[in-house]
Amino acid sequence: MTISREALDMAAKVEAFVRETVVPYEQDPRRDHHGAPTDELVMELREKARAAGVLTPHIRPDGSHFNQRETAVILIASGLSPLGMLACNTQAPDEGNMYLLGHVGSADLKARFLAPLVEGRVRSAFFMTEPSDEGGAGSDPSMMQTTCRRDGNHWVVNGRKAFITGAEGAKVGIVMAKSVDPDSQGGACMFLVDLPDPAIRIDHVPNTIDSSMPGGHATVTIDNLRIPADQMLGDAGEGFKYAQVRLSPARLSHCMRWLGGCIRANEIAVDYANRRMAFGKQLIDHEGVGFMLAENMIDLKQAELMIDWCAAVLDTGSLGTVESSMAKVAVSEALMRIADRCVQVMGGTGVTDKTIVEQVFREVRAFRIYDGPTEVHKWSLAKKVKRDWRHGHGG
Ligand SMILES: Cc1cc2nc3c(=O)[nH]c(=O)nc-3n(C[C@H](O)[C@H](O)[C@H](O)COP(=O)(O)OP(=O)(O)OC[C@H]3O[C@@H](n4cnc5c(N)ncnc54)[C@H](O)[C@@H]3O)c2cc1C
Repeated sequence: MTISREALDMAAKVEAFVRETVVPYEQDPRRDHHGAPTDELVMELREKARAAGVLTPHIRPDGSHFNQRETAVILIASGLSPLGMLACNTQAPDEGNMYLLGHVGSADLKARFLAPLVEGRVRSAFFMTEPSDEGGAGSDPSMMQTTCRRDGNHWVVNGRKAFITGAEGAKVGIVMAKSVDPDSQGGACMFLVDLPDPAIRIDHVPNTIDSSMPGGHATVTIDNLRIPADQMLGDAGEGFKYAQVRLSPARLSHCMRWLGGCIRANEIAVDYANRRMAFGKQLIDHEGVGFMLAENMIDLKQAELMIDWCAAVLDTGSLGTVESSMAKVAVSEALMRIADRCVQVMGGTGVTDKTIVEQVFREVRAFRIYDGPTEVHKWSLAKKVKRDWRHGHGG
């Protein structure tokens, strides 16, 4: 699929909005205890995005999504500031949750849970991971310990979850649990829930390396949560399949947004290297610095091409599991190298909060873990290499 003029125009509008309106807010002190922008700050920026016609820019007014290649140019533009994705409502986990609801939700569920998300009025959370010290689901979702059982017209969910981004303050939750019901035993189910709910208790929000996602990443206890049966997303037992529907585009959209962040960090580092003098010449004229910026140039282009290639595969209707694993590894590792070089080029200034460079560095570090750590993707790719070899040798 091609990238339409409509999408390119939207990306240009988003970029202008982020650079001219959002960037001046980067030093705004309104932050929550996790260090992320407060909801008040986000809502103020959203009003400006709404007025500029760039709110939820990857979804058209009729509810249809731009294709993945088009989404890429728009989300990269929104990521030029860590605040840009929040202002434009393209941030995680809402963007992935909107995608999932748009693809799997019934008309009723969409009207009730998706519409307020697309309007940018509420936040959502995706409850899958569980505490590692209790042996719950992490890299391996099949280890899920949270259970659901049918009780008349309701399902009852019990368990513990960890790293649930935005759970504190979210209004919409997508909860995953393993069924102990005879009809769908062992399969996973996904439920939509109104938040807050007294049966979902926030136990703790740990301090983490990143600070772009409002509400932080909570550890929660789910204690006899009763959910009406018609709030199940799709069919009982199919939850892991739906998680796959969400995971490939969601991990690719992280690549898009943080590529935007690294493009901007690199601009800041290039500017520094051209203005700053050392040993009688501009930093950029020292080969050690110039080479770092040259390597950034190469890594940025490789990341962009990898995203575009994977997006094109998803646009054919493929789940793109293999391709999105390859893109996630290649892009997150390239972005880590880029962000690290930007910090280094800027010397002491690089580790201060005078610019977004240090934040981008911290965010990209976390990105190498969420939506599948690098090693897990490589491990699953290695299994494919082995399968293909066997296939080629009559196995
Ligand atoms: C900032 C952030 C936000 C998050 N937001 C959410 C959210 O909103 N909702 C949600 O449900 N989850 C969320 N997560 C959780 C995230 O998806 C998990 O952290 C991730 O899946 C890894 O699980 P784990 O932390 O339990 O690591 P573990 O499963 O304990 O793995 C630890 C390490 O072991 C290695 N490893 C594991 N398996 C293999 C393998 N097969 N081969 C080689 N090495 C391996 C990897 O290096 C991995 O990093 C978030 C995490 C972070 C850091």
